Amino acid sequence: DLTAMIAGIDPSLDIAMTTNGILLEEKAKSLKAAGLKRLNVSLDTLHSDRFKDLARRDALDRVLRGLTAARQAGFSPIKLNMVVMRGRNDDEILDFARLARGEGYEVRFIEFMPLDADGIWSMDSVVASREIIDAIDREFPLEPVPDQQPAPATRFRFRDGSQGGIGVIASVSDAFCKVCNRIRLTAEGHLRTCLFSIQEHDVKALLRGGASDDEIRDFVAAAVWQKEEGHKIGQADFVRPAKTMSQIGG
Ligand code: SF4
Repeated sequence: DLTAMIAGIDPSLDIAMTTNGILLEEKAKSLKAAGLKRLNVSLDTLHSDRFKDLARRDALDRVLRGLTAARQAGFSPIKLNMVVMRGRNDDEILDFARLARGEGYEVRFIEFMPLDADGIWSMDSVVASREIIDAIDREFPLEPVPDQQPAPATRFRFRDGSQGGIGVIASVSDAFCKVCNRIRLTAEGHLRTCLFSIQEHDVKALLRGGASDDEIRDFVAAAVWQKEEGHKIGQADFVRPAKTMSQIGG
């Protein structure tokens, strides 16, 4: 059980979870008690019919109740990740900004990347971060959060001092690949050195094969040396990975 696994981890570590929020109503309290420090909830729409279409289940109310449960359990701030898709949910940008102000969430608007299960991505479907910030700023004036550490999200706060905050992740229009220090371990036990990796590195086989700690360390180091310079979205030699975002795990 995930809660027990988290409870077994060194409590000084910064443990965060990204979730679709469907089980939060039941689990938020026990996750908090187990030592989960930060919570990110993926939520692309506040319309039930769209949610059903995008998430392939009728569960928006459950997610919203889960968010309330998470707040009551003491998670703060809670980040909401919204992938903005032109023509599908870009008319909800201000609704999400209002939600951030109303409930104190940090809403992260993420540019749509070609990792979707439906394969509907196109360059035209990307809403650039600048456009998102301009739209919010016209309604709710924003200012940059000072002293930001290098991170995927560029963060803003509301100039009127309201609770909540806004972040944009310009993964397509202004990719931060040059300073990316991320590698991912998938649920299958494979290292992925980039979201757009075409090949993965099978750590699980080493672990199951009885490799020593030194061998595993060398394997991980060799994988990191092969880390991609970045994605090539929009370039002629871009290759779309076989795995979707939900298979990679975010
Ligand atoms: S290098 Fe890969 S994982 Fe890192 S920011 Fe670029 S696309 Fe994302």
